[in-house]
Amino acid sequence: QHYLQRIEDLDEELNSFITVCPELALEQADAADAAIAAGTSGPLTGLPIAHKDLFCTQGVKTSCASKMLDNFIAPYESTVTANLRSAGMVMLGKTNMDEFAMGGSNENSFYGPAHNPWDVNLVPGGSSGGSAVAVAARLAPVATGTDTGGSIRQPAAFCGITGIKPTYGRVSRWGMVAFASSLDQAGPMAQTAEDCAMVLNAMAGHDHRDSTCMDQPVDDYTAKLGNSIKGLKIGLPKEYFEGLSEAMSTKVRAAVAELEKQGAIVKEISLPNTKLAIPTYYVLAPAEASTNLSRFDGVRFGYRCEDPVDLEDMYKRTRGEGFGKEVQRRIMIGTYALSAGYYDAYYNKALKTRRLLSNDFAQALKEVDVIAGPTAPTAAYEIGTQSKDPVSMYLADIFTLGVNLAGLPGISVPCGFIDEMPVGLQLIGRHFDESTLLNIGHQYQ
Ligand code: GLN
Repeated sequence: QHYLQRIEDLDEELNSFITVCPELALEQADAADAAIAAGTSGPLTGLPIAHKDLFCTQGVKTSCASKMLDNFIAPYESTVTANLRSAGMVMLGKTNMDEFAMGGSNENSFYGPAHNPWDVNLVPGGSSGGSAVAVAARLAPVATGTDTGGSIRQPAAFCGITGIKPTYGRVSRWGMVAFASSLDQAGPMAQTAEDCAMVLNAMAGHDHRDSTCMDQPVDDYTAKLGNSIKGLKIGLPKEYFEGLSEAMSTKVRAAVAELEKQGAIVKEISLPNTKLAIPTYYVLAPAEASTNLSRFDGVRFGYRCEDPVDLEDMYKRTRGEGFGKEVQRRIMIGTYALSAGYYDAYYNKALKTRRLLSNDFAQALKEVDVIAGPTAPTAAYEIGTQSKDPVSMYLADIFTLGVNLAGLPGISVPCGFIDEMPVGLQLIGRHFDESTLLNIGHQYQ
């Protein structure tokens, strides 16, 4: 009731929720009370959570912030939301986002932008912007997000909260609306690393319905939180600091110095192919998106244009009217990159540069235990100032994209303020070593 009241009081301005489900939430809260009374409760029983509107939730609208799915009520539940429900968590509602998770500012939403609670004229980041806002403004204690190229970490940084993108294959993608299937991964967003650890415990695990989900035991992510970080090796990639603003560099270095004080060993490393991350991602992600989004044809589900004269007219107008501008741009880029004649030059080439990037990380993570750097080059900016220039938006993803391309886990933890807006420290770890990232985040906080 407390959180529902806060949503009612504050979300008209913040626009962090697309759907709020008060009745369902109170019903689930009653069930949690009953579980507590019966002695069958767990650590998450009764805790409210908000889900990014990209996870299918049975009986509750799943829009992906698109006109295309504005009328879509999923007939089944995603593994992530089902796992969290089984752990006793209470769903408050579904959060705002960039349409189909394409964007980094939450401005590409059919439902309008979400607003950064630190300054409502500024973007909250994206694509999981609504989830970040809900947690930062304490409209929900925790939220789920998804991260294809930074969409958990960057909004977490912009809103001053903590968010972790687990290793690719750690969390099931079943029931998540697919954007770029080889990159998409779900994770928790919360005030602290400890809260993220508790929620990730319940999210992660094998799922036979997602063939890329690894059959590997899940760590207890809270178990190592008390461990000292003495002797842990942290690498600072020199490429991440070239051209970085003085203000951001100072914040990140100060955070790393704090870890050094706790006994971590800091050294400079190199990720020589860093600049390939943007062109690689912005070929592969649109390519995968163009095929994934072919299912929205007006026939099976979602939006259908009015009075189509024939099948082709229905396809054209349904997709032309149902998808927003950025989604259409990605479908066109992706279709181009995959077309006969261009496939080798773009798609195949991008697969090769993806390998170079992965090799860089693999090499670096032999030398050090984790890599540290900024989550994003800047703090949050004013709504409406960047969105007209898609390329400048893409360039701002430089520090997050490589992590997805290499399938590694990455966390963003708040590391201070620039001009009174929060900024984030990103830590990148070895495959399946979320525990170390969460531990460092916890020690730092
Ligand atoms: N900003 C990136 C993009 O627009 C990443 C989005 C994401 O991680 N879903 O594609």
